[in-house]
Amino acid sequence: MSVLLDVRGLSKRYGSTAALHPVSFSIESSEFVAVLGASGCGKSTLLGLLMGIIAQDDGEIVLNGKRIDALPPERRDLAMVFQSYALFSHMTVRSNLSFGLRMKKMSPDERARRINRAVRMCGLHDHLHRFPDELSGGQQQRVALARALVMKAPLTLYDEPLSNLDAKLRDTLRSEIVALHRATGAAALYVTHDPADAATMADCVIVMDEGRIVETGTPHALYRTPALRITAELFGAGNVIDVPVENGMGILGPTLRLRLVERASRVPAARATVVVPAEGIRLTPRSDGEGVVVGSRVAGPLVHYEVSVGNRVLRATVFGTRDVLPWGTPVALAVNDPLHWLDEQPVRGAGA
Ligand code: ADP
Repeated sequence: MSVLLDVRGLSKRYGSTAALHPVSFSIESSEFVAVLGASGCGKSTLLGLLMGIIAQDDGEIVLNGKRIDALPPERRDLAMVFQSYALFSHMTVRSNLSFGLRMKKMSPDERARRINRAVRMCGLHDHLHRFPDELSGGQQQRVALARALVMKAPLTLYDEPLSNLDAKLRDTLRSEIVALHRATGAAALYVTHDPADAATMADCVIVMDEGRIVETGTPHALYRTPALRITAELFGAGNVIDVPVENGMGILGPTLRLRLVERASRVPAARATVVVPAEGIRLTPRSDGEGVVVGSRVAGPLVHYEVSVGNRVLRATVFGTRDVLPWGTPVALAVNDPLHWLDEQPVRGAGA
């Protein structure tokens, strides 16, 4: 793989607000990258700068080895899919798909070839002669996907494209978008505030907070071994807790002591914020167990428990719903893996 997009020191201020501090990152060809962060963290500003509808204060945007940051949007060779679909309401689906190609003065033959392919890939055969307001939200978003696809751009930018759709359709379209990228080999930069989008779609996730990139990694690494609390909480590992440390052991309960993972940075001496994935805790009913079941919720094949241990409540997820432990059951807890701890200092009293 080679670098397709290289962003270097890109920044934007609005008066005294730094919407984007200087950020640098790159995307390889065919890579699917998600930008994840809460509202106001600078995601739209980043997209606007890449698209060319917002002027940067500083920095460079290089696509395929060429600087594009001084080019107008239509000359940047990027495709775009918006949250609001942004279809032309007075045009049929076919006209919506051909509009960008006509602007590029593409031959009718090539236009037809590209449109037929996109229509096939996005399942739109039956809708070609309809107008956008005759389509459901999911169908409109498929048209928007197809419209990006016909451009054959090496990189497609997505601006929260699924946030107006219901949960089931979101799930389906997540898979379809990823499949489209696998099939075409185009790269994606997918902006979202929904960790589920990032976790299920992306090869690599860029976590943003207050106009900065704060952490980057694969969804798996950000789930299992996040560096920051914000990432741990976004990826929902289950338990992000501040614990006392003695001799390299984190103390989760009176008899639940676990070795902290050893790594390059120094193991914290007195307290640490540790991450314990909910599925990493095993529960065994035992009258002298140090935990007590204080809540349970069945979700498909899983049971999500809340277990009170000392003065804290831990979350434990168990596969299999045949014997759900009732409220008040005393349990022993076991954790297989050494404890992963966060780089940041624990907040006093957090998680206690
Ligand atoms: P997100 O897309 O993650 O919600 P934005 O990029 O829209 O975040 O905004 C980042 C920050 O920049 C916010 O504090 C927002 O209020 C500010 N901001 C965005 N656009 C403007 C603007 N046109 N004028 C002034 N402030 C803005």
